[in-house]
Amino acid sequence: MTNLATLLTDSAWVHGDRTAVRDGNSALTYARLDDLSARAAALLRDRGVRPGDRVAVIMPNVLHFPVVYYAVLRLGAVVVPMNPLLKAGEIAFTLRDSGARTLLASPMAATEAAEASAATGTDFLVVEPAGFDALLDRTEPLPGVADARGSDLAVILYTSGTTGTPKGAELTHRNLLGNTATVVQTLFHVTPGDVLFGGLPLFHAFGQTCGLNAAVAAGATLTLLTRFDPAAALETIRRDAVTVLLGVPTMYAALLHAELPDGFDAPRLRLAVSGGASLPVEVLHGFEKRFGVDVLEGYGLSETSPVAAFNPPHRPRKPGSIGLPVRGVELRLVRTDGTTAGPGEIGEIAIRGENVMAGYHNRPQATAEAIRDGWFHTGDLARVDEDGYHFIVDRTKDLIIRGGCNVYPREIEEVLYAHPAVAEAAVVGIPDRLLGEEVAAVVVLRADARATAPEIRDHVKAEVAAYKYPRVVTFAEALPKGPTGKILKREIVVARAPAPVES
Ligand code: AMP
Repeated sequence: MTNLATLLTDSAWVHGDRTAVRDGNSALTYARLDDLSARAAALLRDRGVRPGDRVAVIMPNVLHFPVVYYAVLRLGAVVVPMNPLLKAGEIAFTLRDSGARTLLASPMAATEAAEASAATGTDFLVVEPAGFDALLDRTEPLPGVADARGSDLAVILYTSGTTGTPKGAELTHRNLLGNTATVVQTLFHVTPGDVLFGGLPLFHAFGQTCGLNAAVAAGATLTLLTRFDPAAALETIRRDAVTVLLGVPTMYAALLHAELPDGFDAPRLRLAVSGGASLPVEVLHGFEKRFGVDVLEGYGLSETSPVAAFNPPHRPRKPGSIGLPVRGVELRLVRTDGTTAGPGEIGEIAIRGENVMAGYHNRPQATAEAIRDGWFHTGDLARVDEDGYHFIVDRTKDLIIRGGCNVYPREIEEVLYAHPAVAEAAVVGIPDRLLGEEVAAVVVLRADARATAPEIRDHVKAEVAAYKYPRVVTFAEALPKGPTGKILKREIVVARAPAPVES
């Protein structure tokens, strides 16, 4: 059993009548999802897709995402998922880079996808639900699932990684089966009665492994949200009796400050999982208090399938910590010279284990730089406590060096989130003639709150060493965010305040 698609065929065997995936009022049972994906596999085979071929999929979180995803895998072909908001040029880049020969796109992405397919000569099919299902009804299901070795590629995930140029992280069947099993069995304890929240994009590692594959492996239900917004998320949690919430910190911050609909309750919610970026401790406590559920933080990357560390469910979780390395995974903190950091010392996280990607697609040099002596180097800085719990300090490239002193933005952001008027905050370095870099904070205030820049600055100044507090504080309506809702620091532009700058 090494093909990832057997997660679906096994669950269809055991839990055929149960709901596999739901999108508002529409749903697919395991039997129906299995049947549709077997038909879609036959359709793709008829269009020439062979084992090992790459098939690009550009879809938001809709019922046909899992249909197509498992169809490609059933053939022994490789799924290349893409963000449905990409422009034609970006799609064409990914098609060329991955060598995809077939492209499947939802109607919302069809115009850009058609342009990219014409530019690259890729076979193109629009997955318009009614038309696509009619086509599938005329196609005989493909029996069985292609054999795959554990080392065969299952998915190529495009990620900017630590350098900014998109690269394809090659994930094998073993990578994804192993990480999914770890999530289901040892982290979330998913059972068939569970309803997982599907508000994270399925084209991204977090939503794909911890949402889709975890739900399907366990015979549970995944309830989809095409686009996250707090009101729709609360409605989904209530209506579908969500038991496991999955989100990035900005989702938790939004749910913490959202108005609750009359009579809102979530009695079956038993676990909330945060990952993808640091969860501010204030947000964690506020969320736990408001919704009466434990929030467990984990850590991972596209390159690690993704989960590498997690707060163990049956031990006290440590706020601010990403927890312990998960089953089958080792973490090591390394100094810049490659030696192992000492106790309490900050080092770069390196990861070894069954979850580490095969490499970056067609990029031997980038692969050799990232994976050295079997250890994948993440670009994330952390320290470890006496119990082995890891604390992310920041990303190497987000570190601010102010007058020779290191300022870790995350530490300052934690203090900002503790201010009652702050809904979201990001701390970045801005160029400074004397100091090299200056610390700047961009703050989004809560809808009903007021605060001035000096008030915010003084709040931080009272809590941290003098060289660390932000001399520049600006306000924004919103912060730039990536597809999962992570704050994109690279896109934050801060103009210096006209007021005199202190040093
Ligand atoms: P991606 O490949 O898009 O999943 O991004 C991976 C990056 O997200 C990591 O390299 C980290 O910088 C960041 N990340 C993931 N989880 C956490 C976490 N719990 N705390 C801090 N950063 C995180």
